[in-house]
Amino acid sequence: MISLGRVVKWLAQHAQSLGVEVYSGFAATEVLYDEQDRVIGIATGDMGVARDGRPTSAFAPGVELCGKYTVFAEGARGHLGRELIQHFSLAEGRDPVSFSIGLKEVWEVDPSHAKPGLVVHTAGWPMQDDAFGGGFLYQMEDNRLSVGFVIGLDYGNPWLSPFEEFQRWKTHPAIRAHLEGGRRIAYGARAINNGLPGSLPKTVVPGGALVGCDAGYLNAARIKGSHAAIKTGMLAAEAAHQALAEGRSHDVLAAYPAAFENSWLAKELQASRNFKLWFKRGNAIGTVMTCVEQWLLPGLGIRTPPWTLRNPHPDHLSLRRADACEPIAYPKPDGRLSFDRPSSVYQSGVHHEDNQPVHLKMHKDGVPVEVNQRVFAGPESRYCPAGVYEFLKDEAGESRRQINAQNCIHCKTCDIKDPTQNIVWTAPQGGDGPGYDSM
Ligand code: SF4
Repeated sequence: MISLGRVVKWLAQHAQSLGVEVYSGFAATEVLYDEQDRVIGIATGDMGVARDGRPTSAFAPGVELCGKYTVFAEGARGHLGRELIQHFSLAEGRDPVSFSIGLKEVWEVDPSHAKPGLVVHTAGWPMQDDAFGGGFLYQMEDNRLSVGFVIGLDYGNPWLSPFEEFQRWKTHPAIRAHLEGGRRIAYGARAINNGLPGSLPKTVVPGGALVGCDAGYLNAARIKGSHAAIKTGMLAAEAAHQALAEGRSHDVLAAYPAAFENSWLAKELQASRNFKLWFKRGNAIGTVMTCVEQWLLPGLGIRTPPWTLRNPHPDHLSLRRADACEPIAYPKPDGRLSFDRPSSVYQSGVHHEDNQPVHLKMHKDGVPVEVNQRVFAGPESRYCPAGVYEFLKDEAGESRRQINAQNCIHCKTCDIKDPTQNIVWTAPQGGDGPGYDSM
């Protein structure tokens, strides 16, 4: 059991020792194309831009980083990956993508509770039957453990709060027993793909490729995607290496998707392709059919189920009207096992320079109050794990939505779940964001 954040740092050192240059502290904000519409690299964002969009005395323009091939590996719902998918219509004919939100904490526990290597996976409680959820607890060394809860973003009740469900989940006796007497040292959240092979877009464009969760590679049944990210990164790298050896540049790395189709990863993802889609039909059906597909059929020598389910619609369309749903009363945090959002955000180590343009953009200004609040009771004030969105009344009694962008922990959930797709997540200035040191 290890911290993925630390693995990534270790990998970076290893890459640097081989001569790779790693630039941290800069976000890629723009895809660069040439006149033939081939990807030729990325541009980083400008630094030192004030909240009103004007340059400050610290202004420094972004830089262009160009290459013969550009590989995009931004994680789920990457903001440049999303642009590439739209620009080149990579998802044409594919099912809509399906996402979950994962919330996680790292704890330092009482040494008497430490059992390094222990894995606990849960499903169901405290979720109601119309929403998918499951938890994990991994015991690491040094008396540390990570706990987390994952909720499908196709839930329908706008009163649901993934953050509060996670806090409630920790109070279950089977989880509480590991945490009692310990202290929380880190918090974070991130949207995750649900690993539907039927939703995978084309992964190559002239001069570029999508890998890992940026494309949507994940095995939801096994609750893991890091192995898929590493494998697809390797396959793209091998294709690029071969192309460079042949003196090519800026063309389509067709060898990468071909190698994926012949890989163990493609077989593995096909074997669990229906996992999330069964749970869309209820926890009982999901549990039974997972047993059938993951244990019964393989026991009979059938590794891949002979049927394929389809994802009917994107997650944001599953939200129901608030007045047609039961409000959910969540228990108050006790400050020992369960916490509120402000103290959690503090533990994410998030930092954003105050004087910069708001990085959460709106297509239309009136929608937050007219649709989000009036029809759906402001679901972003509940699904955002960092309390970024608040509905307030001004002096005239008019509602308005306030965006506390400095709290954003870059989970991308608002970009996915907003009912009218009015919110667009863009990269803030420089390397601003959460500081996930031990996550
Ligand atoms: S504002 Fe959006 S991206 Fe940022 S933490 Fe909230 S839901 Fe996640």
